[in-house]
Amino acid sequence: MATTTIEWTNRSWNPLRGCEHVSEGCRFCYAECTAARFSGEGKSFSGLAEFKLRELPGPDGALRLLKVATWTGKIKLLEDEVDKPKRWRKPALVFLASMTDVFHPDVPDEFILRLFETMDACDRHRFQVLTKRPERLLQPTNLGPGKLYERLPWPGHVLLGTSVEDHKVIHRIDTIRAVTAAKHRWLSVEPLIGPLGDVDLSGIEWVVCGGESGTHAREMKIAWMRDVLRQCEEQKVAFFAKQLGSVQSKVLLGRDDKGSKSFAEWPPYLHDIRIRNWPPVLQLKENGQAQNQ
Ligand code: SF4
Repeated sequence: MATTTIEWTNRSWNPLRGCEHVSEGCRFCYAECTAARFSGEGKSFSGLAEFKLRELPGPDGALRLLKVATWTGKIKLLEDEVDKPKRWRKPALVFLASMTDVFHPDVPDEFILRLFETMDACDRHRFQVLTKRPERLLQPTNLGPGKLYERLPWPGHVLLGTSVEDHKVIHRIDTIRAVTAAKHRWLSVEPLIGPLGDVDLSGIEWVVCGGESGTHAREMKIAWMRDVLRQCEEQKVAFFAKQLGSVQSKVLLGRDDKGSKSFAEWPPYLHDIRIRNWPPVLQLKENGQAQNQ
């Protein structure tokens, strides 16, 4: 997979596939759903996910039986993809591992190092690393003495990001701050499924925020997004509103869609959150795709 429709990047780079849930933000994982659809024999996600019946709470909290995509727990490393960004001549924002979590425990340290070496060698690109498992970077490694992050190159064109879907996981922000070698840090506050509360954004340059999309999407209250925006403004962090999510889309626009990504469709009273700012490190004027609006 190369080009992408994700608003905050140009390309995805997927040198590995497969994952497992780590927190509530994973409940209706987009990658898991895609993997389950293409999991038949000979297909690209064969053996990595399947559709299963699971008991899950509905909007009223009552449990209901749903047929949902479910990872099998297997991880597949794609050797042929490891060097791929070296062949992309045009500078791009590159999202590493949109279909998994690069710091899943079954991804060998040596493989992670090779991905970081590829990023190190491609300074024409900006790499957006995003994980729900940043604590792995602070753990010992078989690459040598010290912590995993201390054995990886951290050039200025690599951004370390973590996903923060609600207050329960804001500790991940402290964890990426503890990766002191990283030159740039960002947050994906998506799907925002609960209020974040007060967060310390020191050392964070960019926050992407959005609701959940999909058939079983949970609601993102507009007030939660406004509160994230307020804190970004107060702490001078670039804010990027991605989408309202499927529930708000139904309430405000009266239709099902992928979460209402187009600002033109948002009601006028949401003018204050129609913001898509980029941090300076991601403003690639060469390709005209990532500039402040
Ligand atoms: S960590 Fe990411 S890819 Fe893995 S299950 Fe959670 S949302 Fe999906």
